[in-house]
Amino acid sequence: MKKDLKNLVIAIDGPAGAGKTTVAKALASRLEIPYFSTGAMYRALALKCLRSGKNPENKDDAEQIAKSAKLSLKYANGKQSVILDGEDVTDMLYSDQISVGASQISVHKYVREKMVDIQRQVANQQNVIMDGRDIGSVVLPMAKYKFYLDADVNVRAKRRYDELLSKGSQISFEEVLQDMKERDFRDKNRDISPLIVCDDAVVIDSTNLSVEQVVDEFISKIK
Ligand code: C5P
Repeated sequence: MKKDLKNLVIAIDGPAGAGKTTVAKALASRLEIPYFSTGAMYRALALKCLRSGKNPENKDDAEQIAKSAKLSLKYANGKQSVILDGEDVTDMLYSDQISVGASQISVHKYVREKMVDIQRQVANQQNVIMDGRDIGSVVLPMAKYKFYLDADVNVRAKRRYDELLSKGSQISFEEVLQDMKERDFRDKNRDISPLIVCDDAVVIDSTNLSVEQVVDEFISKIK
């Protein structure tokens, strides 16, 4: 199902573990356009911050990290890569520690402005699917299609827990659930670009749906 349309920009927002990236990947493959997970950028900054022994919650530390980071996104063969200061860090970004660090560093104004700038440049150059927390509201408010993908927090935490276990993590389900609730709270209540449901977004709840069913729901809305 190839779309010939120019300016096919699809924004997907929603909380952690709702399935945004899984769906974005599947849509990218069906529509033959690239997808970019913007959370990976905040994760890369968190990685740099933690590696440097700095505190992602501290505004000055976060600004210094964001200022000095050379960050770019690449997409090839159905996979996104994140390049941080010349190093491909894609496979280092999905630990629980980095998830928490990303949600802490992403509250800072300077950090968000720099990331939004890069994200807009990426979307200006091509048709894209972009997922995150502020894509429909801030990064690409003119997106042709806006989606808000949600699911019950227990289901989201279970998905993330299974993912972490498969990577050999020792974390307990209760810790994952607690971290997810805290991330949800931070993402929805921060002063700058909080996670919201845009008035013009299609809301899809994936709690009781398979990945295929969610993708079909999305496709049915994309004309
Ligand atoms: O989407 P993902 O779980 O990888 O995002 C990691 C964290 O980065 C989120 O919890 C959120 O705090 C932050 N984020 C954000 N804005 C985005 C994408 C992610 O604040 N557009």
